[in-house]
Amino acid sequence: VRHLCKTYRGKKGAETKALDDVSAVFPEAGLVFLLGKSGSGKSTFLNLCGGLDKPDSGEIVIMGRSSAEFSAADFDSYRNTFVGFVFQEYNILNEFSVEDNIALALELQNKKRDPQKIAEILKSVDLEEFAARKPNTLSGGQKQRVAIARALVKNSEIILADEPTGNLDSETGAEIFGLLKEISKTKAVIVVSHDRENAEKYGDAVIELKDGMVVSEKTMATASETAECAGKPGGVRPHLPFSF
Ligand code: ADP
Ligand code: MG
Repeated sequence: VRHLCKTYRGKKGAETKALDDVSAVFPEAGLVFLLGKSGSGKSTFLNLCGGLDKPDSGEIVIMGRSSAEFSAADFDSYRNTFVGFVFQEYNILNEFSVEDNIALALELQNKKRDPQKIAEILKSVDLEEFAARKPNTLSGGQKQRVAIARALVKNSEIILADEPTGNLDSETGAEIFGLLKEISKTKAVIVVSHDRENAEKYGDAVIELKDGMVVSEKTMATASETAECAGKPGGVRPHLPFSF
């Protein structure tokens, strides 16, 4: 991520500089926390990383390709196949069963519903017995695990999570961080949080934002070690999973 700037302009001309020249490097695999107080620019940053919004200037570079050169179709493809999103409010559909929520993510990628794959993913988030349940019968932690399963079924390279434990008690929150940690063995997982203690406990690296700027960066374990453990040595992948 290079030199991202983003200013929001209100109707009456009021300006908020949400990001002011933010750069960062993320590993292919590993868990990176973005820390910062409310209003420091964390969600803006994550949304730009996920292609949900565009910066005023700066670029994200994914496997050597700059977002500055992305076509609209590249952005769609990037969002749909390369990135999985997890939000504080879960954003799962209450009218659909757990299984249908996950199947929908596949169908949105024009993939067939794959019951075996869905069952495997539900098992990996410890929800194998909940496939037929409606989300309103689940606890917050279970709902968040459905949201994580939905992100995982896309088989994306990157998981972006915006305050995924913000609505959870601390014990359930720790379970979610543990699950994200597990996932980060094979994927880049970027988590926005203001929970410094857990960021330092679970994170491979912590980036702290203040007033739209990076004020500190700390690496707990080398990201390349993590990537190598996952059998993903650095360098060029054999194929790009989205149509560049
Ligand atoms: P965080 O996620 O760290 O709480 P945000 O990225 O949401 O911070 O917001 C950074 C700053 O940008 C805040 O001052 C916020 O009020 C402002 N902001 C965020 N989104 C918008 C928007 N859509 N329109 C105007 N201002 C915004
Ligand atoms: Mg936010």
